[in-house]
Amino acid sequence: MKSTYKKGTDAVWAGEGNVNTKGATTTPIVNSVTFAYEDLDEWHKVATGKEPGYIYSRNTNPTVAALEEKIRVLEGAEAATSFSTGMAAISNSLFTFLTAGKRVVSLKDTYGGTSKVFLDFLPNYKVDVKLCDTTDHEMIEAEVAKGCDLLYLETPTNPTLKIVDIKRLAAAAKKVGAITMVDNTFATPINQNPLELGADLVVHSATKFLCGHSDAMGGLVAGKEEFVKKIFGFREINGASLQADPAYMIARGMKTLELRVERQNASALKIAKYLHQHPKIKDVFYPGLESHQGHAIAKSQMRGFGGMMSFSLDGGWELVKKFLPALKLVHLGASLGSVSTLAGPPRTTSHVELTEEQRRLLGIPESLVRYSVGIENVDDLLTDLEHALKKI
Ligand SMILES: *Cc1c(COP(=O)(O)O)cnc(C)c1O
Repeated sequence: MKSTYKKGTDAVWAGEGNVNTKGATTTPIVNSVTFAYEDLDEWHKVATGKEPGYIYSRNTNPTVAALEEKIRVLEGAEAATSFSTGMAAISNSLFTFLTAGKRVVSLKDTYGGTSKVFLDFLPNYKVDVKLCDTTDHEMIEAEVAKGCDLLYLETPTNPTLKIVDIKRLAAAAKKVGAITMVDNTFATPINQNPLELGADLVVHSATKFLCGHSDAMGGLVAGKEEFVKKIFGFREINGASLQADPAYMIARGMKTLELRVERQNASALKIAKYLHQHPKIKDVFYPGLESHQGHAIAKSQMRGFGGMMSFSLDGGWELVKKFLPALKLVHLGASLGSVSTLAGPPRTTSHVELTEEQRRLLGIPESLVRYSVGIENVDDLLTDLEHALKKI
């Protein structure tokens, strides 16, 4: 079951050839809602899971299955399943395990949508939600010890790239029999494998680095078979299934995942170092910098520090309004992890729902810029930043 290849090789080969189209060297897009059977006995066997095969694409689909196999291998998991978006993967997984009376422990800094599930939805279903200060490991351990059914982590976090120690916290969860689930969207399986660090489940917004081209949405979950089966059972009926077309796009993007992420790791580190010494920049948040408060943990659990960073300008919101439009090699928008560099202020993207005071409490300065490094030549990106910084 476990691959003996390196990530870059698995990214290209895993899951391919699963769909039986004689001689095809790439997985076909099977846009068939249903799968027909001439033999009724065989149909029954497939429908009841006694034989492999496909029945109906809300449940399973060959193209989608090829993508699921790719993430399963890349994350070193027993099983994997897929969703229409990253938020569908996260919310369906949470709702699978968090029924009335259960308790979930998580972080204040999770992705905006995830945070909304914790604050606005789960409490309505009588789930006890405890959100801890993201880097306060003692507090998280204490809250887990008080009783916990699910520990939900994200590292690095959005937008200030905080780092939490997966191994340490998964061990705490294990002690009380809690499931540990980690959002690995920012790191990608090239840089970090939470399951190897003791987590039970890993979740991805495949919309970001995995797809890598900002042209398809999806969500993926991988981990222990018994848990993935439960999540699949929930999704099968609740219906947030991934379609064959975006599954193909994501699997196609994933073939170049290692190339892209290695390039983005190298460029981001170079850019972070450049900004760190720049007089017009106040703070740079990048786990690859020794000055970053989570650097030691990041170094121990990540193979690369990723393509995401944020930095604050030495001034306020007015300065951001001058700086961002002066950049030429960026799309100003939400999302991240694409081949093209993308930037935006958390004030209008990930944390738009919060007040200035709430953002301040989360340690998000009004002059913060989130910067998702693309695969452009890094010298051009540095020149672009230099020009824009000269204008403010
Ligand atoms: C974007 C994102 C999500 C949500 O994914 P969608 O595909 O947009 O639903 C979840 N977690 C993280 C860290 C993200 O960046």
